[in-house]
Amino acid sequence: MKTIIEPFRIKVVEPIRMTTAPQRERLLREAGFNVFLLKAEDVLIDLLTDSGTGAMSSEQWAGIMRGDESYAGAKSFYRFQDRIRDLTGFEHVLPTHQGRASERILFELVGGPGKVVPNNAHFDTTRANVEHSGAEAVDLSIPEARDPRDRHPFKGNMNVPELERLIQRVGPERIPLVMVTITNNSGGGQPVSLENLRAVRAVCDRHRLPLFLDACRFAENAFFIKRREPGCDHKPVADIVHEMFELADGATISAKKDGLVNIGGLLLLRDESLFQRASSLLILTEGFVTYGGLAGRDLEAMAQGFEEVIHEDYLHYRIRSVEYLGERLLSAGVPILEPPGGHAVYLDAAAFCPHIPPAQFPGQTVVCALYRHAGIRAVEIGSVMFGGSAKTVASGGAASSEASGSADDRTLAAQTGASPPRLELVRLAMPRRVYTQSHVDYVIEAVAEVHQRRQTLRGLRITYEPPVLRHFTARFEEA
Ligand SMILES: *Cc1c(COP(=O)(O)O)cnc(C)c1O
Repeated sequence: MKTIIEPFRIKVVEPIRMTTAPQRERLLREAGFNVFLLKAEDVLIDLLTDSGTGAMSSEQWAGIMRGDESYAGAKSFYRFQDRIRDLTGFEHVLPTHQGRASERILFELVGGPGKVVPNNAHFDTTRANVEHSGAEAVDLSIPEARDPRDRHPFKGNMNVPELERLIQRVGPERIPLVMVTITNNSGGGQPVSLENLRAVRAVCDRHRLPLFLDACRFAENAFFIKRREPGCDHKPVADIVHEMFELADGATISAKKDGLVNIGGLLLLRDESLFQRASSLLILTEGFVTYGGLAGRDLEAMAQGFEEVIHEDYLHYRIRSVEYLGERLLSAGVPILEPPGGHAVYLDAAAFCPHIPPAQFPGQTVVCALYRHAGIRAVEIGSVMFGGSAKTVASGGAASSEASGSADDRTLAAQTGASPPRLELVRLAMPRRVYTQSHVDYVIEAVAEVHQRRQTLRGLRITYEPPVLRHFTARFEEA
């Protein structure tokens, strides 16, 4: 059978509201052509982000009721800790309120001026936390990642020769750890292979450097490995997940992605003394080590989410629904970043609207057209988000919008030749277990229709912009 179904049935529904074209026209103008300024209830299908927007299962909701809200030693913490130990093999598990809190604790401990942190592609909060500590964040993606049409199966891989060269040049004593982001969010949700992780591990071993994973989408990455890496198709996803984590000395995780919850994060560590110091910082800024800034009920929901996310029916449906969106758009002639990522499809807005110059924000223009035409909210990842500074879009791909978008030049990246060209992208991020195939079909139709009349789209100009992070609050008018 060819049809891959949603492996769940629906127990609770949340109505979404249809709007008329004249209403959307008015709402868009009131929002200054910036979809961050729309009210969510005025959006029909919200593809702004996959972070914290997923649907919980009946078992997770049951866990919410079971949550033990004791200050210390709550049953919910031990259930969470057991689940994460079992999933990852890590002994030391700290809960945090979200991924960036884990990053802040980690880089406060290992970062600092003069330090250099390599990553296949830093996510924007990760980069911001590295830089906030005074260290320098360097992206080392493979050359294929810079070509939107290249269908490399593991386009998220780290550039191992560049990593070796960077270590030679700056010296291992300046590198507190090497980080690999799985899947590579800033590079378009592209996976990293086990072979690449092993090669990075070997470089780390040679120089006695710790390897950390930014493992927000570890389950999606593991499923791609199962599907694409030679010799892995018969391995259970749970075993692949173990293999990935076994290669690492630590991990930061936002549970808002593959934790299948709306809030939560983790910091995983092997080193005993680092764990002690991280625990002290956690207590200082997040909460006691058995709750880390979360409620007991959140820990229950996470324990259950980290169980459900490696179910292969779920992952098959998840990866396939994003792939389906990408394939259908390609066959309708819509240019996208290829191949589709694990959590999102990225439209190539420069190719979509070649008649609109970057100065008139082709990505933002397409975002506005999708809302106007069909009530769909996407996000621009291009010259609105990254313009106005030397900053470039990470690794031939996208970056994301969940966060802070630190702005500065990438001196080391430029020296290594790893500084990629800027792409004009529009990200359609799929919330987990929220939309059905007919919603996806609606999105496909809408994007294809907007693409057919792309010649009629008019660019934008900025009428207001704040000094930093302008994409959140800037206002525009039609050029
Ligand atoms: C979302 C994300 C983070 C940050 O997590 P938050 O929970 O949003 O703080 C870090 N790295 C990657 C790759 C992410 O996708």
